Amino acid sequence: MSMEGRTCVITGSGRGIGRGIAEHLGARGANVVVNYRSSDEAARETVESIHEKGGEAITAKADVCDRDEVEAMRELAHDEFGQVDVLVNNAGITQDTRFVNMTREEWDQVMDVNLGGMFNCTQTFYDDIWNADEGRLINISSIVGKQGNFGQANYAAAKAGMFGFTRTIAIELASGGSTANCVAPGFTRTDMLAEVPEEVQERIVAQIPLERFAEIDDIASTVRFLASEDSSYITGEVIDVNGGMDL
Ligand code: NAP
Repeated sequence: MSMEGRTCVITGSGRGIGRGIAEHLGARGANVVVNYRSSDEAARETVESIHEKGGEAITAKADVCDRDEVEAMRELAHDEFGQVDVLVNNAGITQDTRFVNMTREEWDQVMDVNLGGMFNCTQTFYDDIWNADEGRLINISSIVGKQGNFGQANYAAAKAGMFGFTRTIAIELASGGSTANCVAPGFTRTDMLAEVPEEVQERIVAQIPLERFAEIDDIASTVRFLASEDSSYITGEVIDVNGGMDL
């Protein structure tokens, strides 16, 4: 699964799942654009870790909600590496509360990052993916988009929205030979999971047939496969990586 010479942009890849994806792709020879919004130091560490493994990487500060910043990131990627082949829309946030108490602001913020960010980045890099030799769009959704989850009406709606978006873009990209897929992680050990109270975490893990949370590597290795030429005939799919939680 060599990614030699392929240029990959991963949103929100200074930390968490995004960082794992950046490191997996960098270790396979990809040129990696490590996007971040606020985690400057973590993004620099991600780049250093890719360099230590012999890969090429740069940081690119951009809020995915800001179209101008995303377009500046594309310029930066082009100046450094040329055309982009793979876009991973990973940046995401939660704003959890029971729906009855949810403010319109909490709804809008979650839509703006998870769906609006995906819109901005996909449209900005669309021509790159279309023109690439087997371009790849990979959107990081969630099991919550399928199952729902108490206190996450906004997040569940946004993550479910990614499924329909991905299938549509898959249809539109297909005649150019590029693919679009979603990965739907189950509960994964990152800062996002750390925000969930301990007793709730225990209840969740009791529902997972494989009896553990996902590690970042479980998600990153799936994305690495979808980004590679080995996945050429898979498009418009949602790949669940959840330890059997939806069985
Ligand atoms: P995390 O540890 O909370 O990290 C979130 C990442 O998103 C950070 O890198 C952050 O960058 C970035 N981000 C947030 N808003 C941004 C914006 N406006 N512009 C650019 N970057 C932004 O989250 P994670 O657990 O790694 O989650 C990554 C993705 O997987 C998300 O889409 C999440 O919904 C999904 N997911 C996570 C889980 C889980 O259990 N952890 C399960 C299913 C799906 P900065 O730090 O620079 O702000």
